[in-house]
Amino acid sequence: MALFYLLLVFFFCFGASLGSFLNVVIWRLPNKMSLSFPASHCPKCGHPIRPWHNIPVLGWLILRGKCFDCHEPISVRYPVVELIGGVGTLLIAFPYLASLIFQMTQGESSSWEIWLSVAANLCMFLTSLAAGLILWDRNRIPFRLFLPAIGFWVWLMQNDMTLILVLPVVCVLLTFIPQRLRRGFAIPVLILAVGWLLNPFICWL
Ligand SMILES: [Zn+2]
Repeated sequence: MALFYLLLVFFFCFGASLGSFLNVVIWRLPNKMSLSFPASHCPKCGHPIRPWHNIPVLGWLILRGKCFDCHEPISVRYPVVELIGGVGTLLIAFPYLASLIFQMTQGESSSWEIWLSVAANLCMFLTSLAAGLILWDRNRIPFRLFLPAIGFWVWLMQNDMTLILVLPVVCVLLTFIPQRLRRGFAIPVLILAVGWLLNPFICWL
């Protein structure tokens, strides 16, 4: 059981780091900026963020929501997205982890397909979350945001060509939403993210 709890902590920390990366994607991708350069910096004073202030959720709490250098407030959305990333990853991985531990106690080896399902669900969840928040910011979603999710979708839908084509078409349509309608479309896309969060539980029950 110690391994089970250790894995839960690992998945939360891993998910919170993914949430932190998602904050970068949500801001930089629609603004045609590099995802890796420059390193994280304060948008107000431009000062690089120290590594210990960049720890997901904790960094914002240590700084009490203000930049260390210019003391300008940092949006609460950053730690919230990190927290959603952590909790969401934990929720998606939980049913798979439970069955993995069960298999191990029964002396069976786990299938790699279980981990591919976790990765697929996680990718769908994070992509929907990022797309929803980009729309909420009234920015245009770049089509390349969807590429990893489309890859997993093709794998999930196997040979059903009609279903395989649904997601790329929906993604193309999402990139063409006019600016004034984007906030309205953000809501169903964010609801879809919650759906992907619940999907492993529905499959599990
Ligand atoms: Zn600053």
